[in-house]
Amino acid sequence: MTDIERLGAAVATVPDFPKKGIQFKDISPILLDPSLLSLAADLLADPLKNLGLTKLCGVESRGFILGPMVAERLGIGFVPIRKAGKLPRKTLSCSYELEYGSATIEVHEDDLDSNDMVVIHDDVLATGGTAKAAATLVQEAGAEVAAFSFIMQLDFLKGRERLGKKDSFYLLTY
Ligand code: AMP
Repeated sequence: MTDIERLGAAVATVPDFPKKGIQFKDISPILLDPSLLSLAADLLADPLKNLGLTKLCGVESRGFILGPMVAERLGIGFVPIRKAGKLPRKTLSCSYELEYGSATIEVHEDDLDSNDMVVIHDDVLATGGTAKAAATLVQEAGAEVAAFSFIMQLDFLKGRERLGKKDSFYLLTY
């Protein structure tokens, strides 16, 4: 088995969670195995080297798991992008549409500035709405979005098309 096949084999697909019709991709079996966890962080970090990145922005909640590990491997800072109302200092916020209703995410205004080259990280790229909103926040803070990084993408939802021409990296495709 290749490294990618080992990772793919560890992702659990849970039908009809959190609601009927959704095939939920659960990364927790990867987290249970320290060698797989370390492998995932190494493989995510590899293509991000030499891009001149200065910060990795992880999206709550599951972008907070591998995100700091990848940032540490790249030798750059980790910036949390959180759901509304969680960050204690002055924030920028961005609202976006979900399948039903809307969501708001926030970043600390002073975690980023015009010198920053940023990679946005999350576990799953689905429709791309969350990653696009995260990119809007980064740009509003004056920083540049250089790339996106995901453990996996759900190709049939065409999320990549919403992310424009930026480099988008992922380990697995469904
Ligand atoms: P989206 O904004 O549609 O790209 O959705 C991305 C967010 O929802 C990410 O934070 C994912 O963690 C989560 N997500 C969407 N679809 C799935 C799925 N099928 N399995 C696991 N997480 C998902």
